[in-house]
Amino acid sequence: MVREIVIWPDPVLKEIATPVDRVDDDVRRLLDDMAETMYAADGVGLAAPQIAVGRRIIVIDVSPREPDQKLIHLVNPEIVEAEGKTVYTEGCLSVPGEAEEVERANKVRVRALDYFGKPFEIVAEGDLLAIALQHEIDHLQGTLFVDHLSSLKRELIRKRMKKLKQQRAADAAEAVKRAPRHESAL
Ligand code: ZN
Repeated sequence: MVREIVIWPDPVLKEIATPVDRVDDDVRRLLDDMAETMYAADGVGLAAPQIAVGRRIIVIDVSPREPDQKLIHLVNPEIVEAEGKTVYTEGCLSVPGEAEEVERANKVRVRALDYFGKPFEIVAEGDLLAIALQHEIDHLQGTLFVDHLSSLKRELIRKRMKKLKQQRAADAAEAVKRAPRHESAL
């Protein structure tokens, strides 16, 4: 099921997500929903807080840009090693239409549980996967890419997001008004 993506700023995006005790069917359903939501929005990564679920769960699929990659489910992901520096122009499904350069580690080693709760490790270096892992794990700490920017840039983006939310609310109200009405006196 495609879920609604929360737009920044929103308190739920600032919360620190809680670890998952057990990867059960509920968690797998959530992972499926998250992947579906990410693909529907043409994204390459999604963290649970972005659909208003405060748990340490992320999905990543950078294969549109890096064809040798595939969908990765990460539960309770943790960066256990980070090396070097790189700059990448990032966007975020919770900050639509915006993209800015962010400095990240060039190489990361991440430990997590997979779709079946089995521990695994993933190493990514100098590619979009390395960036996506850091970006999504940031979400679990209540940090968005805009938090890495200057306050001036962040405030400009905040204003544009406010406008976008107002526009969406107005569009939704308009859609309700235009909807056909069925009335019956019974
Ligand atoms: Zn994001």
